[in-house]
Amino acid sequence: MPKATHSAEYLLNQLGELSHELSSRSLQGQGHFDKPLQIVNNVMGFHVGVLYKIANAIENDLILEVVGVCSSEHQRPDLEEGSKICLDINNPPAEFINEVMAFKRRSVSAVNVPGWGCDIVGSIYMPESLGHGYLLAGDFFGEESDIQTYEVRACEVMCNMLSAVLMKAQFEKLASIDGLTGLMNSRAIREAFEKAFQRQKRKNSGLGAVVLADIDFFKKINDQYGHIQGDSVLQEVGMLFDSFTRKHLDVAGRYGGEEFLLIYEDSDARQVLSIVERLRQSIAGHPFKKIGPSGNPIHGESLPVTMSFGVARLQYDGVTSSKELLAIADAALYQSKEDGRNRVTLGQALASAN
Ligand code: GH3
Ligand code: MG
Ligand code: MG
Repeated sequence: MPKATHSAEYLLNQLGELSHELSSRSLQGQGHFDKPLQIVNNVMGFHVGVLYKIANAIENDLILEVVGVCSSEHQRPDLEEGSKICLDINNPPAEFINEVMAFKRRSVSAVNVPGWGCDIVGSIYMPESLGHGYLLAGDFFGEESDIQTYEVRACEVMCNMLSAVLMKAQFEKLASIDGLTGLMNSRAIREAFEKAFQRQKRKNSGLGAVVLADIDFFKKINDQYGHIQGDSVLQEVGMLFDSFTRKHLDVAGRYGGEEFLLIYEDSDARQVLSIVERLRQSIAGHPFKKIGPSGNPIHGESLPVTMSFGVARLQYDGVTSSKELLAIADAALYQSKEDGRNRVTLGQALASAN
């Protein structure tokens, strides 16, 4: 019995839907593989759609892990999710010929495999430094799989789309610059802070301070003038922060929303307090661009903006984690807000510390 398939037009529409879904959804877990597996199973008419993660490719071994199976019934009990298969690349068993060929060629392989064994396998490429990628496969149990050329192309299109989407997600994860302010992004500044904390713990020099900074009444700026204005303020704050950090010595990053983190590793708390006080003044005195209804700055008009700061030393007796230090800086920032905003407060160690 030949493989039952839907029309090429229906398949094309399904690919269009997949493309739309992939570009609009945020990548969480492995949800982006669900639809491709369904297309292989329901639209292209394979009894089973399979997704393998390439767990490793080492010497002559290709190690696959089954990470997704889509089947109307439970038809391949040998392919349990989580199970691993080790294949000899130079001498693969007949039922895994397409998996190995697709991996080697980095493209689609569609040799007919009667009975169990995937009849079509496409490669979802990833650069090796990001992991080895995936294989998307379909298994038809009959003698003749009867795969159409357009189905091979559809498999290739799905694999290429998934490859692009996965690489985009990885790229965003690896990127360390915040697109709006040009400062380090949240992930990067948190990492830098953890490293500075650990280094200071080892050196025990008593130097270094971390500063948590927050724009005052930022919500009002957004509410009154719109988000383009808010974004423009964030950009200018980014520029001012950048000018108050010495290259290769201090770091500034966007901690989140309208909160920033500054790390001064080689200065003592007194020096940092005076730097931050000057930064505070320079922000309060800066003519922030006023954005008009057209989205462009209005010539000759500006907006006042102030910021509040909480400073914590990088070392306190009894403080053992970077999280505790941030809590001290956060409490100091809160104090600045309580005391009327537009000010700098040095944090006190928590009750349990000195
Ligand atoms: P406070 O002085 O107590 O800090 O008040 P606030 O209004 O600054 O603080 P709140 O936390 O209430 O508001 C922060 C606002 O920042 C809310 C949020 O919409 C806005 N925001 C966060 N990220 C962005 C962004 O990327 N762009 C813009 N325009 N606004 C942002
Ligand atoms: Mg805030
Ligand atoms: Mg704020």
